[in-house]
Amino acid sequence: DAFKQQDGISGKNAEELYLSIPSTGSALAASIQYATHPHLAGSPEDFEDAKTILELFQREFGIVPPPVVPVFPAGTPASRAATLSISALPAPIAWIDKYYPVMNTPLDHSLAILAEDGSEAWIAELEEDGDPLDPEAAKYRVAVPTWHGLSKGGEVEGELVYLNYGTKEDYDNVVEKGSNLTGKIILARYGGNFRGLKIQLAQEHGAAGVLIYSDTRDDGAVTAENGYETYPAGPARNPTSVQRGSVQFISAYPGDPTTPGVPAYENATRTEGENIPKIPSLPISWANAQRLLEELEDGREVTGKASERKVRLVNHVDTKVIPIWNTMAVIPGHIRNETVLLGCHRDAWVMGAVDPVSGTVSLHEIVRGFGALLRNGWKPLRNIVIASWDAEEYGLIGSTEWAEDFPEWITGNVVAYLNVDVSVSGSRWGASGSPSLAHLIRQSALDVSHPSVPGKTLWDAMGDSGIFTGKSDAEFLDMYESAQQAKASDTGISPLGSGSDFTPFLQHLGIASMDQGFGNTPTDPPYHYHSIYDSERWQELYGDPGFSRHVAVAQHMGLTALRIIDAIIIPLNTTQYALELDGYLNKVESIASTLAVSPNFSGLRSSISNLQSASQALDVEKAEAEKKFKEALAKLPKKSEHDSCKMLHLPEWLKKILRKIHRHTKHNPLEEFFKAAQRVQHVNQKLRVFERGFISEEGISEREWYKHLIVAPGKWLGYGATTLPAVTEALTLEKNATLAEFEAKRVTALLNKLSDAIAV
Ligand code: GLU
Ligand code: CA
Ligand code: ZN
Ligand code: ZN
Repeated sequence: DAFKQQDGISGKNAEELYLSIPSTGSALAASIQYATHPHLAGSPEDFEDAKTILELFQREFGIVPPPVVPVFPAGTPASRAATLSISALPAPIAWIDKYYPVMNTPLDHSLAILAEDGSEAWIAELEEDGDPLDPEAAKYRVAVPTWHGLSKGGEVEGELVYLNYGTKEDYDNVVEKGSNLTGKIILARYGGNFRGLKIQLAQEHGAAGVLIYSDTRDDGAVTAENGYETYPAGPARNPTSVQRGSVQFISAYPGDPTTPGVPAYENATRTEGENIPKIPSLPISWANAQRLLEELEDGREVTGKASERKVRLVNHVDTKVIPIWNTMAVIPGHIRNETVLLGCHRDAWVMGAVDPVSGTVSLHEIVRGFGALLRNGWKPLRNIVIASWDAEEYGLIGSTEWAEDFPEWITGNVVAYLNVDVSVSGSRWGASGSPSLAHLIRQSALDVSHPSVPGKTLWDAMGDSGIFTGKSDAEFLDMYESAQQAKASDTGISPLGSGSDFTPFLQHLGIASMDQGFGNTPTDPPYHYHSIYDSERWQELYGDPGFSRHVAVAQHMGLTALRIIDAIIIPLNTTQYALELDGYLNKVESIASTLAVSPNFSGLRSSISNLQSASQALDVEKAEAEKKFKEALAKLPKKSEHDSCKMLHLPEWLKKILRKIHRHTKHNPLEEFFKAAQRVQHVNQKLRVFERGFISEEGISEREWYKHLIVAPGKWLGYGATTLPAVTEALTLEKNATLAEFEAKRVTALLNKLSDAIAV
């Protein structure tokens, strides 16, 4: 009809057009563009990619490129104006924010077993084989050495001690057995917790250094042992592959080590860096680890027993301020103080076809989808901000610094943060997020087609697994299924821990957040995480042949975003959140009972119940406000229907004039509409601040940067979420029921305040 044509595409039509845009051909081309060269944070290639993304934003959002590339050093008027002007923009803009964190790059390193006379009995290669038939894996084989980001430089010698995954339990276990780790070199395998925490625990136990290796026992069914050829000849793990990665002490705080809580401007006042190791470490391959294990009498038994001979670990690094670049874009909406934020990191350890290029490709397709909508006259109801974060790999640095730069703007404006990092490393789709987003996430997954099975939806892909079979598949899958079930809540959406860019928004600022992607299952080819083999060839051959999973993630994330951007009432289900809190408290109570203590949580229980009632009342008001708004909208002259959206956020002076004009006019449709719009705004404001209500200014004790009292990365987990973290850890770590009660009271106070804040 004429109205729609004149005023642009919207509603269901917009969703349909959007879903038709992401394509496998475009996704594959983008993957080739981004994944065929290394792009370490702060490197010249990373800056080139930052500009490529800037051009994508400019092209798709109709932004005329300025004569000089808009690269704004953080903290300068230009950089501050870019973010702070979002509420007043007439048209889309895009720019690059430059931050100045302290990071490191590798110099030289070595690892040797020492003979009795101190000479080197064996020297580790510490290099990946590459693939002579894969042009990039061959060309860039040693471009980024195998080292740990933010690791401590140094040379240490000591006997080896095997420590399994190097989890808190593993350390406690050997200490209990009476072993002394002082001066030892810890050998631990990847998995179980975030790698930086393995080193933090080693350091706290007086160890001299740490070696972390990839163990093929963690590769599921697709192993050489089960008869598979190793990569590049087949799908099993290449035994020389090495998992690089940050060893930041993530539980203290993420971001630039030297500016906790504040933005890393060039001239920032810097601290020593309290979230980085004081002992050196190296990541090593399965091939190198096998030789070291021969030095241990009991091999991979956790006995705490040290090797006879010593090993020497040398890790020289260049630690300095290294500038990084976040590429940002804004599409202004009608409502100027409500913004939906989408992001993915851009930097990789080497080429990162999976991490993060798969996510960046999905974001690329989302940008094309939004571009198509804009060209069809779409005007989003809310603002959209899209970010290509830098230096996520070193410790969520680009996202954290931006969050620390604009905390007031973000908490005052951002409705939700949608993150994607790895969008495809295997066959099974999964999503995590704030419980308030769970229903929305599920509905969009039901409305997106399964990437390969006709008639099925993306939601069905939550049960998918790999096509490879081995003798022990069933066993592996059983273990995996029960681990997945333990994680997920009734909605199928598990809470967010850490390990990607949602952390500063969710756990520091209290913004409802989500993350998603296709993950690796035990019957998928093992994913060569953070290695030279995370390559375009691997992705095309084993990760997502045909690229339809990349597309499904783009469709889901964009559709979810559209439904937040254009909804009259923000689709946050606060009641689901309030109901889940009971489950979190049940979990704490069951921990208490295993410790044979019974702290009194009755105050917390009743504050949860109050929040549930307040939220249910808000649900009634949501429905009523939406109904009244639609009725008022229907009564308006047709012509002004589109313009009326702007009424959701009128400047105060205009509202006053309107009030004056219509004061004495009965049944004025504009007046009625104006009231309905205000009512909607009022409800939306309550929905927006709901997650914010879980933020305590004092934060979690001993890790105050983390301010969310309902969810945090587990102190000794890193990636995994711990709900009611301070209460839970008072019991699990401190075994202190009185402290648990005290922490529960802090949560109770927050929840009571929140119930008042959302009361209607
Ligand atoms: N995603 C990266 C990793 O797991 C960085 C996580 C972090 O440092 O917080 O290694
Ligand atoms: Ca900082
Ligand atoms: Zn990543
Ligand atoms: Zn990564």
